[in-house]
Amino acid sequence: MKILVAVKRVVDAKIKVRPLPDHSGVDVKLAKMAMNPFDEIAIEKAVTLREAGVAAVTVGPLKAVDTLRVAMAIGADRAVHVRTDESLEPLAVAKVLHAVVEREKPDLVLLGKQAIDDDANQTGQMLSALCDMPLATFANEIVLEGGRWVVTRETDGGTQTVSLATPAVVTADLRLAEPRYVTLPAMGKARKKPVEDIELAGLGIDTAPRIRILGVEEPPARKAGVMVSGVDELVDRLKNEAHVI
Ligand code: AMP
Repeated sequence: MKILVAVKRVVDAKIKVRPLPDHSGVDVKLAKMAMNPFDEIAIEKAVTLREAGVAAVTVGPLKAVDTLRVAMAIGADRAVHVRTDESLEPLAVAKVLHAVVEREKPDLVLLGKQAIDDDANQTGQMLSALCDMPLATFANEIVLEGGRWVVTRETDGGTQTVSLATPAVVTADLRLAEPRYVTLPAMGKARKKPVEDIELAGLGIDTAPRIRILGVEEPPARKAGVMVSGVDELVDRLKNEAHVI
């Protein structure tokens, strides 16, 4: 069994980003970067499915190799770095990952359910279509049973369990695994693991953007809360001021 996990380098979840002065995007020039949290969960799950060999793949700039090192410190055996300085849309990333899947022939492709920078939640879905593989999104459990992937998915009303033929594409939700703390010795070991370097331009994939960003704005500032003296005043205000009850 072989698992390929797609990991993206994104702005660290704890950083508050701001729009660029011309509102064409988000200013990330000096921001601290980290592995997308859902991808950390995906890697953690992949390495605990013990019977599998795990490769991590990223599509990104030179610095994205740091994200692959973290993936290997968590336990991935090796990594593939498709190098580009372009900022790619989910369709373009899915096409690139499709090319990697064709070379690697994994039994399972694991992705995060979404990248916390653009919140697109599209790449896994597009990849499954391009690879013509079954898909389970928002996984909170994955078990291999009789040569099929049995995946429990988070849904609005609870959970749904599905059985997928191999190979399959699965996207990780929050409860799929708890990523371990990455120690310095583990990072040291990860430095000795192999990273295959592929130049995106050499793959001959059409990655031209299909989307034009018209503007990026900060969310409206939240109004300050109001302290009430007790239940009576709360009910009165909800009834007569907010008109919600
Ligand atoms: P998105 O569709 O952009 O929300 O991303 C969903 C998932 O696709 C992420 O959690 C990653 O697993 C994967 N992904 C997106 N962009 C990249 C990238 N540049 N390199 C590797 N994986 C990616």
